[in-house]
Formats: sequence, C-alpha cells, structure tokens
Amino acid sequence: MKLLLLVAVLVASALSEETFGGHQVLRIKASSNDQTIQLQALESLTHLQLDFWTEPSKPELPVDIRVPFQSLQAVKVYLESNNIEYSVMINDVQAVIDSEKKEMESNARKERNSGTFNYGSYHTLDNVYKAIDSIVLDYKSLVSKQQIGSSYEGRPIYVLKFSTGGTNRPAIWVDAGIHSREWVTQATALWTAHRVASDYGTDSSITSLLNTFDLYLLIVTNPDGYAYSHASDRMWRKTRSINSGSRCVGVDPNRNWNAGFGGPGASADPCSDSYRGPSAESEVEVKAVADFLRGHGNVKAFVSIHSYSQLLMIPYGYKCTNPADFTELNNVGKAAASALSSLYGTKYTVGTICSTIYQASGGSIDWTYDIGIKYSFAFELRDTGRYGFLLPATQILPTAQETWLGLKKIMEHVRDNPY
Ligand SMILES: [Zn+2]
Repeated sequence: MKLLLLVAVLVASALSEETFGGHQVLRIKASSNDQTIQLQALESLTHLQLDFWTEPSKPELPVDIRVPFQSLQAVKVYLESNNIEYSVMINDVQAVIDSEKKEMESNARKERNSGTFNYGSYHTLDNVYKAIDSIVLDYKSLVSKQQIGSSYEGRPIYVLKFSTGGTNRPAIWVDAGIHSREWVTQATALWTAHRVASDYGTDSSITSLLNTFDLYLLIVTNPDGYAYSHASDRMWRKTRSINSGSRCVGVDPNRNWNAGFGGPGASADPCSDSYRGPSAESEVEVKAVADFLRGHGNVKAFVSIHSYSQLLMIPYGYKCTNPADFTELNNVGKAAASALSSLYGTKYTVGTICSTIYQASGGSIDWTYDIGIKYSFAFELRDTGRYGFLLPATQILPTAQETWLGLKKIMEHVRDNPY
C-alpha cells in the first residue's frame, strides 16, 4: 500500500506542471564592471535556482533574472548590500502565465466555434502543425512540407518550402523557436508562412523574390521543447535529451553548433540553461538542420529568429573579431532594422553577437557564416524586457508584421547581390 502511494506521488509529480507562484523578474542595472562581476558571481550560486533571462556581460546592458519566491530575499539583500540598482519587472510570474493560458483557452474556443485560425494567439505544437498543413493545402502550387528529421522524443521536424519551380535554386532559410520558450518567434514564423503564401502573385517584392529563390521556413526548430513549454514548464529553453550521468535534461541547441564549440559563453554543466551538450551537433534537432544545409549546398541566406531584446545580430559570437563581410552585413542589418521600425517605431540594435550581447560559442549563424552562407543573421524580437519571454498575445501580430519588413529587406538585398 505504501509503495503504491509512493508510486502515485511520483507519477503525479512527474506529470505536474511547473508553477511560478511568487516568482519575480528583476531588472538589474550594473553601474560598473565590478558590479557585472558580482552579478556573474550571483549566477554561479546554483542553489538559488535563478533563471537569467539576459546575461551579465557589460554594465550598459540590463540583466533580467527570474527569481523563485524562496530566493527573493537573499537576492535582494545581495543586490542592496552591493549597491546594485534593480527594479521589479514582473511582480508575479505565475499571474502572467495564468493570463496567457486564459487567453489561449478562450481563443481555442473561438477557433473551434468559428472554424478559423487566429494568427494573433499562441498555439500548441499540434495546432501549429495543423495550421502548417492547412497552409500547404490552401497554397499547393507554391508550398510543400518536408520532414528534415525527428526530434529526440520522436516528433517530426517540418520545414515549409516555398518554390515556384526549378531544381536546387538558390535558397533562403528562416527558422524560429530553437529556444522553445521564445513563443513569439514560432508565432511570428507561422504568420510569415501564411503571409508569404497569400502575397505571392500580388506583392511585387515577394513575387520577384520567389521567382529567384526558394524559401525554407522552419517554424518549430525544437518541437520537444515547445511541447514541454506548453504542457509542463513554460520557461523551458533547451532540447529534451537525456544527459548521461546527470539528473538534468536538455542541451541549449544554440550552443551546440560546430562553431567555436565549447568556447566562452556556453556551459559544460548539464544543469545550465546554456549547456553546450557533449559534442557539436549532439542534438538531433541541430544535426537535422546542419545536414539539410550541407546537403542543399545552395543556401545563400540564413536567418534565425529568437526573442527577446530587439536586436539584429550578425557573426561572430564565438569570437570577438568582425567577419570579413562586416561592413556589408552591418549595413544590411541597419537597413532591415529601419524598415522594421518604420511600422510601429520599434527600436532595434544592430551589430555582431559579441558586441551587442556577449561572447557566446556554438551558435547557428556563426556556423552558417563559416560554411559560406554570407548572409547570416539572428533576430531577437520584442520586447526589451517588460514581459520578456511572456510577451502578451496582443503583440504577436504587430511583432510579426514589423519583423516581416526587416526580413523582406534582407531578402531583397540577397536577391540584388548574388554571390
Ligand atoms: Zn533564443
């Protein structure tokens, strides 16, 4: 009987959802390099279970940390005793998650009743995959679905191919959701898929682009993580692979590419949110994309979409030297950011990964650039930290619409500057 009870408790805790009651997100402003170092020291105190939404790297960049209720007092005392300035950005993380859930549920009811799909809401993986299928069905002559691999837990990884014909045409690659909790990115990519499909033949820019290029769009790069972020832990970032010898699950798939793998800005600790994995491309999700790009051989641009911080970044991250094409890439980035801003005034910072955030190794755009895909970019979408990863659904459409202007600018440059 006792054993049965124990089993029941274990099963319940395994199935239960992670909750964040009383967790706060603090925005911290270091005023000196010393204070940045003090924040890095705080990060190493693993027993506090802090979730660094942005990393302490240089004093001018604010650091956002989700602090569990039981660590709040210790963290605030630490900051105050070191005279480090902070403010509370999110007073109760669970309250924000609850309202997000409510919005999803009410939207799901509306969608069932009306039989329509609302691109301005967050959706589960199953519903994203259904939406992908209906885009393919509605725009058969332009869009097809390819499975490029399977996730660690066996979920299909689907890429949408937009093509007007030809064989092995030059291609543009766009992916989203490599970090699962960055929900506005999958939503933005899905909206973009529909926009490209419906605009072909009417919008002259997208028509001329697709008459020259194939476009590949990977909406959910990390499907296991995305499913897990809906069912079990809204804050899940990594893959869901088992790490042998550790109780901690998952690898940061954007530290797992074969570009400076194992260098600065990635962790060797399986329990870290930036764990690089046992070896480059150990994650099947990363390997699937890398294999696709190697096999295709004619991809001319690679754009990876993350959130948050409102940045448009170019290589490098694993080293702090500028790429050979720095001037061109930086100018394209600036033009894209200003196109993006023209819609709602959203401000973006443009620069190399190392100069805009910090040195980080094993990232995708460094690898694609180094294998010869000159036009390699990474977006960090809205916001600048008011909601961070918990961006309200009301901001999905404006985010997608403005991002589209930036993406289009990049693609037009690629079209007009063949190499
Ligand atoms: Zn990310």
